[in-house]
Amino acid sequence: MTLTVLFAATPALWEEFSAALSHAFADAGLDAALVLQADPAAVDYIVYAPSSPLEDFTPYTRCKAVLSLWAGVERIVGNQTLTMPLCRMVDPGLTEGMVEWVVGHTLRHHLGMDRHIVNPGQVWDPTCPPLARERPVAMLGMGALGTACAQALRALHFPVTGWSRTAKEVPGIPCLHGEDGLRQALSTAQIVVTLMPKTPETENTLNAERLSWLPQGAVILNPGRGALIDDDALLAALDTGAVGHATLDVFRVEPLPADHRYWTHPRVTVTPHIAADTRPSSASRMVAENIRRGEAGEPFVNLVDRVRGY
Ligand code: NAP
Repeated sequence: MTLTVLFAATPALWEEFSAALSHAFADAGLDAALVLQADPAAVDYIVYAPSSPLEDFTPYTRCKAVLSLWAGVERIVGNQTLTMPLCRMVDPGLTEGMVEWVVGHTLRHHLGMDRHIVNPGQVWDPTCPPLARERPVAMLGMGALGTACAQALRALHFPVTGWSRTAKEVPGIPCLHGEDGLRQALSTAQIVVTLMPKTPETENTLNAERLSWLPQGAVILNPGRGALIDDDALLAALDTGAVGHATLDVFRVEPLPADHRYWTHPRVTVTPHIAADTRPSSASRMVAENIRRGEAGEPFVNLVDRVRGY
């Protein structure tokens, strides 16, 4: 019997994803119809993005899983009507994009590129940056994205320390957890990358106290979620130069309001939530693989733990 897969996202995403999803279903040997509308009781799977108006999942009585197109699921994870399995997006294309953003912005600060790119006084300053092996990096969040970014930086010889909720072993990367682990990771880091989900526990991970553990002038890159950082504490640390620069891709309110101090602060770079996008062809293969698993009675991959919130 043909499976009914409801595409619950904006029309713009339908343009981007419908052909890729249909191809991926066929490649996975699935007899599945991707639809924009259906009798809820006849829907087998829902492909979901937070832009969708769908909020009440109660009528979708046959639905075996909701498959998020987004890696971050904070807007849907607490939905009490969503009682079926929820899978988040782990997409090789998205991971590649994040690695490029993190490596690019790390190298910008490591090499001090701004001094030469914006040099109106034509200052000849032959100071050489240290080698990457002399520039410690802390990676807060060692999941799909954090681990890939940590490994890419490690391959360039940056001494990376990982920090996550649970203990981890990643070859070549010392991994810490807990409050003591965070203090240890931050107290030596010249560059900090925050790649955790937004949950009640991760909110304000970088607060005033923890920012004070950083060496003077450390740089923060946040492609995770805006709520990971206490904005007022960060601005205060930037004002004094205790934090040397913050490159921020994500914010509590998006788009970042026009009057927000981040736009004009000389020590802040704003990028408009572009660190990593879900890529239709590779992401569609992940969606198809989970539907194939569901139909074969195999466990779903990238299942969200509702209690943990990610
Ligand atoms: P993931 O695989 O679920 O990894 C999350 C990591 O955060 C894990 O290492 C987890 O620890 C850690 N973590 C969670 N709660 C924690 C806590 N209370 N204390 C310490 N560590 C904690 O997620 P991912 O795929 O790497 O994605 C990470 C986030 O990136 C997403 O949630 C999303 O917010 C963001 N993102 C941003 C963009 C963008 O364009 N800016 C694009 C995609 C994703 P454990 O390993 O111990 O579980």
